[in-house]
Amino acid sequence: MQVALMVPCYIDMFYPHVGIATLELLERLGVDVVYPKEQTRCGQPMANSAGMTGANFVVAETGAIVVATNEGNADLSANTPPLHICSVGIEKIIPTTESLAVFIRLLARSAIGDTITQYTSTFRGPRKGAAMHVILVDNGRSARLGMKRFWHSLKCIRCAACMNTCPVYRRSGGLSYGSTYMGPIGIIMMPTFEIRKYSELFFSSTLNGSCTNVCPVKIDIHEQIYGWREVMEENDQIQVVKKEAMRVADEVLSHPALYQVATTTLSTALEVIPHFAVYNRLNAWGKYRDVPEAARETFHEWYRNHRPKTDEVPAA
Ligand code: SF4
Repeated sequence: MQVALMVPCYIDMFYPHVGIATLELLERLGVDVVYPKEQTRCGQPMANSAGMTGANFVVAETGAIVVATNEGNADLSANTPPLHICSVGIEKIIPTTESLAVFIRLLARSAIGDTITQYTSTFRGPRKGAAMHVILVDNGRSARLGMKRFWHSLKCIRCAACMNTCPVYRRSGGLSYGSTYMGPIGIIMMPTFEIRKYSELFFSSTLNGSCTNVCPVKIDIHEQIYGWREVMEENDQIQVVKKEAMRVADEVLSHPALYQVATTTLSTALEVIPHFAVYNRLNAWGKYRDVPEAARETFHEWYRNHRPKTDEVPAA
């Protein structure tokens, strides 16, 4: 493989050893490294080629491409090279500039809790002497629009509020989803691209509904996650092991006495379980995680000991 090594100006001037280490590492990996001598600064390759952006909205009334960022990176990509390529999903098209005002406020408020992003850039054509190409991407969106139960996901404005509130996302991080779009919105979008590949994604949710509560465009996210689970079941896409685990969980959680026995047994088991049973090469789970230490007393036990006269649950 041949790779062009581009050394940013600050590495060139202040940290040349980083460039040397990178070069040596690539060479050791068998890469054929090319060092274009004409580069004079980090922006040089980009300034000579093309810059790519997405778009948060496209205004049908004026043809304006609107990109909201907090770093100004879209402006650099659009304004420095001689070619600006904008790739945007067809669901991002909104009717008028008036509606843009609403959406921009909605986006900033839900994404960063502010009234507007640091940069809200509008591109209505190429710069003088430059070129601009806009690619309108369908990639399954039209098909999703025809799904009565799931088309609402097309309303998403990518504010990420659903991710920031999701307990699974907050604990596991975006990469754990193994998909381009992550978090609750990723869970309901990805299967429309490839149903079989993402058949396990729907279980990365507790269905607590927090995502639905915060969504500014009112997508019924947790209802859709549940709906997709049903679709997976109907299409026989759920693994046998998971189905069996669910059946056992159903049994245990529907019988209080069984639940009490299970929690007590599990606490004891966690204390005596041999180290190798969890941390071995066959168990990917244990590779990066620690089994939590069980509390000496469960809440059930504490309640029994401290509140002997447990009140009956009042009738609704
Ligand atoms: S689903 Fe709603 S909350 Fe989540 S990113 Fe999209 S618009 Fe934001």
